[in-house]
Amino acid sequence: MEWFDTHAHLGYAELRAELPRYLELAAAAGVTRMIAVGTDLCSSQVCLDLCDRHSNLWASVGIHPNESAKAGADDWREICSLATHPKVVALGETGLDLYWKDAPLEVQQANFRRHLEHSIATGLPVIIHSRDCDAEILMALGEFASRTPLAGVMHSFTGSWETAEKCLELGLYISFAGMATYKNAENIRSVAARVPANRILVETDCPFLAPHPQRGQRPNHPAMVVHTGRCLAIARQESERSFAAATTDNAKQLFRLA
Ligand SMILES: [Zn+2]
Repeated sequence: MEWFDTHAHLGYAELRAELPRYLELAAAAGVTRMIAVGTDLCSSQVCLDLCDRHSNLWASVGIHPNESAKAGADDWREICSLATHPKVVALGETGLDLYWKDAPLEVQQANFRRHLEHSIATGLPVIIHSRDCDAEILMALGEFASRTPLAGVMHSFTGSWETAEKCLELGLYISFAGMATYKNAENIRSVAARVPANRILVETDCPFLAPHPQRGQRPNHPAMVVHTGRCLAIARQESERSFAAATTDNAKQLFRLA
């Protein structure tokens, strides 16, 4: 059985410091592939360096909405140049966040748009973060989708089925993280149960929010994706084996690793 952790912040200090150990734990758990996700220029560069050293890691480079006001004038140009590296398979994470309010909405929107523009120009899929702003995200995505088909994923999805359905119609994949395993997350599991088998992904979003039964453990790390996979397989009334195979195939398809 093979799992694919499609969203791991392996460049963050608490994971990077002991990366060989976390990669061993991942291998022992059957987590054979991971996407190392950048959140600003520096972490994107670190993710890419890690990918150069480990054959089962690929990178996503970009500027997180909460970092968008801090990004320097040249950072985006540098991100675009990193994106030409053969192990970069996605742009992001980008998107919008109205929960933390770390950057004005207009700044976040401009940042999100340039990721979408670059995704269309390069064919690289985009990894989308949405917190407390599903309507704004759908509006921005709709503008782009009217011009050309979108490739990407709604990561760590916690929205409604209506939002999920609209994202699926736009051609996006939906990815679920540890939060979907929490006791009070019946609503997230019921959305996950309805996502078509060829459009669902799993991730840890580590080092944050470890899944049940390791909830509260810090750092979360890629091996833990198996808990989320197992929980969602039960919610979907399918075998763990078939769900692992489907989510791994979907990730290979989206990130063009087939
Ligand atoms: Zn993330």
